[in-house]
Amino acid sequence: MTTGLEDNARIHQTEQRYALEVFPKRDITLVKGSGAEVWDDRGHRYIDCVAGIGVANIGHANPAVADALAEQARTLVACPGIFYNDARARLLAKLAEIAPPGLSRGFFCNSGAETIEAAIKFARLTTGRTGVVSAMRGFHGRTLGALSATHKKQYREGFGPLVPGFTFVPFNNAARLRPAVDEDTAAVVIEPVQGEGGIRPASAEFLRAARDICDETGALLVFDEIQTGFCRTGRMFACEHHGVVPDILCLAKAIAGGVPMGAVLANDRIRPPPGKHGTTYGGNPLVCAAGLAAIRFMEEEGLAARAERLGEHFRARFEPLLPRRVRAFRQIGLMIGVELRERCRPYIDALAAAGVLTLPAGATVIRLLPPLVISEGQIDEVVEALAGVLG
Ligand SMILES: *Cc1c(COP(=O)(O)O)cnc(C)c1O
Repeated sequence: MTTGLEDNARIHQTEQRYALEVFPKRDITLVKGSGAEVWDDRGHRYIDCVAGIGVANIGHANPAVADALAEQARTLVACPGIFYNDARARLLAKLAEIAPPGLSRGFFCNSGAETIEAAIKFARLTTGRTGVVSAMRGFHGRTLGALSATHKKQYREGFGPLVPGFTFVPFNNAARLRPAVDEDTAAVVIEPVQGEGGIRPASAEFLRAARDICDETGALLVFDEIQTGFCRTGRMFACEHHGVVPDILCLAKAIAGGVPMGAVLANDRIRPPPGKHGTTYGGNPLVCAAGLAAIRFMEEEGLAARAERLGEHFRARFEPLLPRRVRAFRQIGLMIGVELRERCRPYIDALAAAGVLTLPAGATVIRLLPPLVISEGQIDEVVEALAGVLG
C-alpha cells in the first residue's frame, strides 16, 4: 500500500517530529478501512473494534456517506447558522423524528465536548442556576466545561482552576444523587452507559430516580449519549432501554459516519435567545449531508436490531470460554467491556498482533466498539482471539 511516505519508520518519525504528543501512541499506522476492517501500511488487516473510538458504527468508508459528501462538497460546504440551509433542515427534521419524545429541537457543533459545553450553557441560561451534578467515573470531554463535569483526576490534574459549581455523586447511587441536587442545580449530567469509565450501564432505577429528582427540583436532566447513541447499544439511543427521556441529549461520535459533528437535542423548556450561543462550522451543509446519509443507512440496515442480535451472539460465544483472568464481562448491544484482574495493556497489544484492534477503558478493562456492520464470522474471529490471548 502506498502512503506517499517512504516507509513505516518514516511515518512514525514524521508524526513524532511534528505532532504535539498528547496521545499515548500505538505502533500501528492505519491507512485504509472498509466495513469492520482496517489495514496498516504493511498490508496487515485488522478487525477494528476501536472503530475510531465508537465513531464508525456504519462501517469504514461507507459508500452512502462517501457519495453524500462528494455531492455536497460540489454543491455547498460553508453555510453558517445565520442562514437557512436545505441539508441542515433535513437533518434537523430527521433527528426530531428519531429522537426520544419531546426532543424536537437541535443545535449542531463539531465534537462531543462541544455538545457538553452547549448543554451546560443552555441549562444555566434556562434555569438561572449554576450547579452541575455528574457521576464519578463519568467522562464528558476535554474542554474546560466538559472537563469540570469529568471526575477522573488523571484528566483534570494540571488544568485548574476548573469551572466552579460542579459536584459528583457515585454512579448508580440514587440515594446519594437525591441530596446532591437542589434549588441551585442547573443540570444533572449522566451517561446511560459509562464508556471511558469501563462500559458500566446505569440501572433503570438510577435513571428513573434522576428523572424524578430533576422534576422535583427543576433541574434539567442531560444524557451524554456521545458514545452510546446511534444504535451502539441495540437501540437508536441507550435511554430507550429504560424509557427515561432527558431534557437535553448530547450526541456526537457516530452521528455523521465519521465526519466530525456534534448535536444537542432539547425539549421545549430550552429556549436560548438568539445571539447567546453559536459556532462557525457547526451544522455546515457538508456534515449535515453526511449525518443524514449515515442515519438513513442505520435505519435501512436496521443497525439497532443488528447490534442487539450480534451483541447476544458475542456473549453466547464468549461466556462459555470466559478465561480466569476475566473479573467481569459487560455487554450491551455492541458496547462491550472485558474487565480483567490485572492491567489490560499487554493484552490489547497481543490482540492487535492477533489482528484485532481494541482499546482500554481505564487500566483493567478491554473495550470493544466494533462497527455495527460487523459479521457473525468476524465476531467469532474476535472471540477466538480474545479467548486465545486471555486464556
Ligand atoms: C468521546 C466522548 C466525549 C467527548 O467527545 P469528543 O468528540 O472527543 O470531544 C464525551 N462524552 C462521552 C461519553 C464520550 O464517549
